[in-house]
Amino acid sequence: MLYPILIFIFGTIIGSFLNVVILRYNSGMSLGGRSGCFSCGKPLTWKELIPLLSFFYQRRKCVGCGSAISWQYPAVEALTGLSFVLIFYKYFGNDLILSAERVSSALIYAVIFCLLIVIAVYDMRHKIIPNGPVYLFITLSFVSTILFPLFFNTFSFQPITILAGPALFLPFFILWFMSDGTWMGFGDAKIALGIGWLFGLAQGFTALVLAFYIGAAFGLSAIAAEKVISKLRTVRGLNINSKRLTMKSEIPFGPFLILGVYLVFIFNFNFFNF
Ligand SMILES: [Zn+2]
Repeated sequence: MLYPILIFIFGTIIGSFLNVVILRYNSGMSLGGRSGCFSCGKPLTWKELIPLLSFFYQRRKCVGCGSAISWQYPAVEALTGLSFVLIFYKYFGNDLILSAERVSSALIYAVIFCLLIVIAVYDMRHKIIPNGPVYLFITLSFVSTILFPLFFNTFSFQPITILAGPALFLPFFILWFMSDGTWMGFGDAKIALGIGWLFGLAQGFTALVLAFYIGAAFGLSAIAAEKVISKLRTVRGLNINSKRLTMKSEIPFGPFLILGVYLVFIFNFNFFNF
C-alpha cells in the first residue's frame, strides 16, 4: 500500500506543475519563476505550495488578500495523482518486476496523461486545443504503439496500427471541413489522430464513441437545465440576460475525448471487432 500512496503524492506534485503550465502556456510568461496570487501578486511561500493540502488548509483563499482560489488547482493535482496510480496498477499491479519495456511504457503513459490533462483543462478555459501539448501527445502515441514494439521486439506490433491514427482523424477532419469549424474544431481532429495511434483502430473508435455519447448526454442535460432556469426566471419576472445554451453553444469536445481515453485505459473497453 506504500507504493500507490507515494506515487499519488508524486503525481500531485507533478499536477501542481501542470497547473502552472496550463496558466502560463501561450501567455508570454515563462515556466520558471515564482508563482504568485493573481489578485494581489503576493509570492507564494512553500506552505502555500503544498499540492492539495494548501488549498483546503487555506479554505480556498489567498493568505494575502483573501480572494478565492480556483478549484482547478486541487482538481488537476488530484487527477494527476490518480492517473499515476492507475498507470502503476496497470503495469505493476500484479508484480513489481521492473522490465525495461514495462517501465518505459509506464513512463510514456505518465507523460501522455499529463499532456491530456493539460489539453482538457486548457480547452475548458480557452475553448481551444493547445498546439504544443497535442503535437507531443500525437508523437508519443506513435512512439508507444509503433516504435516501442519494434524496438523491444515484442510481437504486439501490427502494421495496420499505423492506419488507425489517420482513420480516426478523417471523420473529424470531414466534420471540421464541412462545417467550417462550427461542428468540430481542428484541434479535436488532432486529438483523434493521437488516440488512433495510442489505442489502435478498435479501441480508438471505442474511445470516440464513448466521448460522443457522454458529450451528447452532457450537452442535452446542459440545454435542459438552461431551459428550466430561464423558465423559472420568466415566471418570476427576472428575465436577466443570461448566457443561453443552445445546440450551437460551444461546449468544448476535447475534455470528452480525453474522458474516453481514460475509460478505455482503465476498463479496457472495446466495442468493436475489426
Ligand atoms: Zn492574493
